[in-house]
Amino acid sequence: MYNWLNLGIANFCEMQKNNRVPHALLLCVDMGLGAQELAYEISRRFLCLERGEETCQCRSCMQMSLKAHPDISIIQKNAKSQGIGIEQIRNGLKVLDETAANNHGKVCIIHETEFLTEPAANSLLKTLEEPPRNSLIILTTGNLQALLPTIVSRAMRITIPLPNVSVLNDFLKHELKTQDDFYIELAIFGREPLNIIKNITMELVKK
Ligand SMILES: [Zn+2]
Repeated sequence: MYNWLNLGIANFCEMQKNNRVPHALLLCVDMGLGAQELAYEISRRFLCLERGEETCQCRSCMQMSLKAHPDISIIQKNAKSQGIGIEQIRNGLKVLDETAANNHGKVCIIHETEFLTEPAANSLLKTLEEPPRNSLIILTTGNLQALLPTIVSRAMRITIPLPNVSVLNDFLKHELKTQDDFYIELAIFGREPLNIIKNITMELVKK
């Protein structure tokens, strides 16, 4: 887990400890800063049959590590489409109405919620108004302003502060095993180190 996401995990653990896990969470963090990783780790902890520790090997955590958990669905915009449509939302949310295979809750993750079409947003809103029992909806966004206020108000927010540029530079040097600095890339791509890694890896493949 990227260390700047630890705050988000700590936030969620606190909710669990106090028995205050909401029906819906809104993670304010860009994809290029690890929205997928954060949402997945929170899901793992929510679905865990034990106490959610990082090293847990319960059936649920094993299913998560194999990316084969029957009680989770993940919705995200595919590269070619403009937005996330109503069919995608309906199909993804359906898992929440089904009986949990592990009898221990269900999760639906929706990434880049700002890309929901209007009908899709309304469909989500209906579910947020009457959330199924023992379920957690995790929304992520890098653009809070673009979300319907009615959606924002029905989810508990976890905001990941933008890490310091030098923290991200050190992270990139470590990940890419180089002594070179990445301040220019961080200025061009914004502070989204995962996008920089993706880009550099793609350039290498082309060469
Ligand atoms: Zn577990």
